[in-house]
Amino acid sequence: MSTSTPESSPRAPVLEVFASIQGEGAFVGEPQVFLRLRGCPLRCRWCDTPGSWTLPAAATARIALRERARREDAWATPFQAACWIAEAEPGGARTVSLTGGEPLLWPAFLVALKPMLGARRLHLETAGAHPEALARVLLACDHVSLDLKPDFDLDAPVELDHALVTRERVPVDAAEWARVRAQCLRLVAGRDACGKLVVSGGRDPERYAAILDEVELHAPDLLVIVQPATAMGGVEAPAIELVDAVAEMARDRELRVRVLPQLHRVLGVP
Ligand code: SF4
Repeated sequence: MSTSTPESSPRAPVLEVFASIQGEGAFVGEPQVFLRLRGCPLRCRWCDTPGSWTLPAAATARIALRERARREDAWATPFQAACWIAEAEPGGARTVSLTGGEPLLWPAFLVALKPMLGARRLHLETAGAHPEALARVLLACDHVSLDLKPDFDLDAPVELDHALVTRERVPVDAAEWARVRAQCLRLVAGRDACGKLVVSGGRDPERYAAILDEVELHAPDLLVIVQPATAMGGVEAPAIELVDAVAEMARDRELRVRVLPQLHRVLGVP
């Protein structure tokens, strides 16, 4: 029998809890409730949540309710986070999208959160840089949205120095990324999951071939979402010809593929 109590549960730093419409991945368009955790060692050039990267000493969490938002101490137990989720979702229970930041920095929190959510599905959005943590949390997740990170669109990582962060280091070069992507793909193969490949402008489509080869080899049934990058921070949006070429390369490998822009950008919702 577990001796865990809400007070002794593993904590994680929450950035925000809010209800919105899922803008990416296999469940795009579904009203969900989002639990966004702080902390990310990666530096994707197209990142739209750089405010989630660090763990400020006096961090607070924004809990967005229908009428207003309030601030709480960021370090939450799974029980506390589940209470905020129930407060933030209008109407009946929604699927919970656990996002970040990188939620796999906090695997113990994730595993302890699942039984607190009742009948809600728990969907994990991950960068796919921590295969050991992914293996640990897999059974707690009803769906995994796994980023297929092109290492050529990442700046050097910055590891977080905090006692509760997973000790697993992130990949630092192309060879390490290839090994880690393969590990993550093998873990999600045959599961309720999708792989998200962000395509930025000005690239040769052949640069994405190795990632598609890895999917074909390790998880051939995985739904691949080709997502055109949103222009920001010096990253260009891709021409449709480039997006189309990458989608065709996926089809050439007999992969299931969808092209989806970020819907929340179109709708103007968080
Ligand atoms: S993994 Fe996510 S939060 Fe981290 S830098 Fe990349 S896009 Fe931003």
